[in-house]
Amino acid sequence: MNVSVTLESRFRDVEARLEAACARSGRPREDVRVIAVTKYVSAAKAAAVVQAGVRHIGENRWPDAKHKWEALNGQAVFHYIGSLQTNKVKDVVGRFGYIHSLDRLSLAEAIHKKAETLGIDVPCFLQVNVSGEPSKHGLEPERLREFIRELRIFPRISPVGLMTMAPLEAEPEQTRPVFRSLRQLKEQLNRDSGMETPLTELSMGMSNDFEVAVEEGATWVRLGTVLVGKEEIEAN
Ligand SMILES: *Cc1c(COP(=O)(O)O)cnc(C)c1O
Repeated sequence: MNVSVTLESRFRDVEARLEAACARSGRPREDVRVIAVTKYVSAAKAAAVVQAGVRHIGENRWPDAKHKWEALNGQAVFHYIGSLQTNKVKDVVGRFGYIHSLDRLSLAEAIHKKAETLGIDVPCFLQVNVSGEPSKHGLEPERLREFIRELRIFPRISPVGLMTMAPLEAEPEQTRPVFRSLRQLKEQLNRDSGMETPLTELSMGMSNDFEVAVEEGATWVRLGTVLVGKEEIEAN
């Protein structure tokens, strides 16, 4: 099968679904940006995705992302979407435009330190465990306010918004309360946490549930399987 034709038809299908979800919720299509998650595909496929016009690439492990980053550096903005170990921060900060998984102060400190040596600010999403599943990473919603206050000692960190992962549901509609809660948390924090810069972004929605996430206010959807597919990856 011709890879680029497959990609093209996937892109067209996702675009139509995004437009419909925006229309249903009265949102302008340009308020929602797409991160193509390339963790299941080769560097060649990731390059084809960028070639096809996607500017934002998501990866969740540095060792797997390394080749793609080296090949595509400058052509795409990389988003770090996986849980981030403190000892990997040195590889990620400076290479990834956004970190979606800030969920603890020790990580914030490591990101800040590395950013300070590079003289850059790092836009970060605070990952929230809205659903409360023990298997999921992320801050408890009740911790957010205090966490944001504590982050002030790390001025190289720019909190831009909140991120969550909904439980995998057979019926995507069941994820709606999780996404709605994340939006409400953002609104609440903007009202009463005394931040200088309000949180503007919501990173939520994956292949299984992105339309519901868009209806509930997602500004970034993270799409792997539905947009770029999955392949057996040879060591690359
Ligand atoms: C893998 C991954 C995605 C994309 O998953 P799909 O269901 O294939 O779209 C999105 N977000 C995170 C955090 C991921 O780890």
